[in-house]
Amino acid sequence: MLVPHEKIRQILSAYDKKKIKIATICSHTALQIFHGARLEGIKTIGITTQKRRKVYEAFPLGKPDKFIEVDDLREVPASELVDENAILIPHGSLVEYSGSKLEELAVPILGNRHSLLWEKDRKKMFEWLKAAGLQVPATIEPDKIDRPCIVKLPGAKGGRGYRVVHSSEEFYEKFGGMNVTVQEYLIGVRVYPHYFYSPLSKDGYRASEGKIELIGIDRRFESNIDEAYRTEQAGLSFTPSFTVVGNELLVIRESLLEDLLEMGKNLVEAADRLFGGIPGPFCLETICDENMQFFAFEVSARIVAGTNIYPLGSPYTAYLYPEPMSMGRRIAREIKLASKANKLQKIVY
Ligand code: ATP
Repeated sequence: MLVPHEKIRQILSAYDKKKIKIATICSHTALQIFHGARLEGIKTIGITTQKRRKVYEAFPLGKPDKFIEVDDLREVPASELVDENAILIPHGSLVEYSGSKLEELAVPILGNRHSLLWEKDRKKMFEWLKAAGLQVPATIEPDKIDRPCIVKLPGAKGGRGYRVVHSSEEFYEKFGGMNVTVQEYLIGVRVYPHYFYSPLSKDGYRASEGKIELIGIDRRFESNIDEAYRTEQAGLSFTPSFTVVGNELLVIRESLLEDLLEMGKNLVEAADRLFGGIPGPFCLETICDENMQFFAFEVSARIVAGTNIYPLGSPYTAYLYPEPMSMGRRIAREIKLASKANKLQKIVY
């Protein structure tokens, strides 16, 4: 059950606007979030286990101003955060660890928590992608597999356990009785654009009541598929797997930027219609085929790990801001601007 919007409004209206802090759990994109907030002059809180604390202390410019130690990262200390005037920044680990508890947390969260429900349910997520007019891979019934398909386990597990199958027989042999999604396997280049939607300004690429910024693009490095040529050269055979290991920067043909911007704009406007919008960062996972057509298979309405590549700005933020701008810093900038304009309610739920 989502915590009522009205309750978050009340908590936020009691905050001292001059002392807003940024909080997140120490994982995923936390270094970047703390670093960006520091550059914007906003104090930060890192929720951590005792063991992990030293990792963040090893990076003085990326560590939080204050640590809150917990025994288990699934436990977000909501009332302590409220006492600290904190806004919680959701990232991949926070969403994965907290699960449905995140929806219930009585602490202001950047973005719209309705989006959490839409991105975690694959059927709803595809409804959103389609409502935005994006092309998506076909979802195939297990007994009708007529082409190479990728079989996906539920939840955001960074591709862990995914396999390619070529027939219904192979599917039942490997996944019979399991709750999985079977999707057409797309051939092309993976392109994962990172966007920021701001309802506070119209100065830029217009979307809904504000604008979107294309902050960067990454491509993931997945084991073992992305080093397949080495394995093959070594004369070994292997079963392709898709577990994310890291990310690398991607810059695409400039003539494709219009497609990326339009996809971002359409996602924002579809989110408006379906569940009241997605202020803040979001990301798409797409494959661009040989005809320069983009097919989207995932959307995340939050900061993604691919943004960790550019803590001091990307090849795209260079044309948006004169100062080094990361996604973490962009988040802090938005909170600062919204707070000054008394519009925090617009970007937080
Ligand atoms: P996360 O939530 O961390 O993004 P996930 O577990 O939801 O991960 P996906 O992002 O859906 O997994 O997919 C993992 C990887 O599998 C992708 O990065 C891509 O390389 C590959 N993949 C996913 N869907 C397809 C597809 N339809 N065709 C080809 N490859 C795909």
